[in-house]
Amino acid sequence: MDREQILKLYAWELGACFRHPAKGEVPTTHVWTVRTAAGDTQDIRACEECVIAMENMRRETAYRRGVEYEPGRVSEA
Ligand SMILES: [Zn+2]
Repeated sequence: MDREQILKLYAWELGACFRHPAKGEVPTTHVWTVRTAAGDTQDIRACEECVIAMENMRRETAYRRGVEYEPGRVSEA
């Protein structure tokens, strides 16, 4: 599965990437929701580069564990 196919598995909206806030508004997808100390929830969004990097890590982890790699599920990791 190539990069474009993996990116199509996610819904993209303009936003700030959690690892690249300096990039400003870029296409991002929602990956996690975290609870802040104040009890609010905050959406964590990731840009294309980060999603691909996370998918690569998931693929390697799945390979090492001998389990099937399923792309499109970064938010479940
Ligand atoms: Zn990023």
